[in-house]
Amino acid sequence: MGKKEVTPIVEEACQTTKFPKQWFKGLAEIGAFGPYIPAEYGGPGLDQISYGLIMQELERGDSGLRSTASVQSSLVMFPIYTYGSEEQKKKYLPKLAAGDIMGCFGLTEPDHGSNPSGMITNIKDKGDHYLLNGAKMWISNSPLLISQLFGQKMKQVIFVV
Ligand SMILES: Cc1cc2nc3c(=O)[nH]c(=O)nc-3n(C[C@H](O)[C@H](O)[C@H](O)COP(=O)(O)OP(=O)(O)OC[C@H]3O[C@@H](n4cnc5c(N)ncnc54)[C@H](O)[C@@H]3O)c2cc1C
Repeated sequence: MGKKEVTPIVEEACQTTKFPKQWFKGLAEIGAFGPYIPAEYGGPGLDQISYGLIMQELERGDSGLRSTASVQSSLVMFPIYTYGSEEQKKKYLPKLAAGDIMGCFGLTEPDHGSNPSGMITNIKDKGDHYLLNGAKMWISNSPLLISQLFGQKMKQVIFVV
């Protein structure tokens, strides 16, 4: 996928800040979203070595594309697979593996890059709703979530707090 489908158009995609939509299906088809997730949750059930090799090949095409896949796999799917309830795993993992929904991991803040203990973003339980306040930057996949959210193409956005 890297050399054949990514390299020829990645420069234009970068300059026009447009993520080629066909890459989502392509990444899902080669098992790049949660390679180690077992088949019962919609994953290809590969091992961690295979995961590494897939990411290495994607990186050869483009580092940002590898980030899209590895953030989805390690920072979104892994916590749900490891710490989520059975209901959460069944609900989210198959859709994430298919690239139907995309997730991101928002740690970095403008004034507290490598220092999570300095984070000031917070969430408050207001009874009938949650209030999320703060600022984040350099969050891989977040432009996809925001554009899909405002384009109302995405039905669900997951906040893992
Ligand atoms: C392409 C890309 C994708 C990214 N995707 C994500 C993402 O999906 N989610 C996310 O949360 N973040 C993401 N980031 C942010 C990335 O994790 C941060 O860049 C990283 O945390 C470093 O923060 P910073 O750049 O503010 O550097 P700083 O924390 O300001 O550090 C600057 C320099 O000081 C050094 N330094 C920092 N603290 C100390 C210390 N206590 N002692 C000695 N040296 C120190 C660092 O090693 C570094 O060399 C992404 C960044 C990039 C470039």
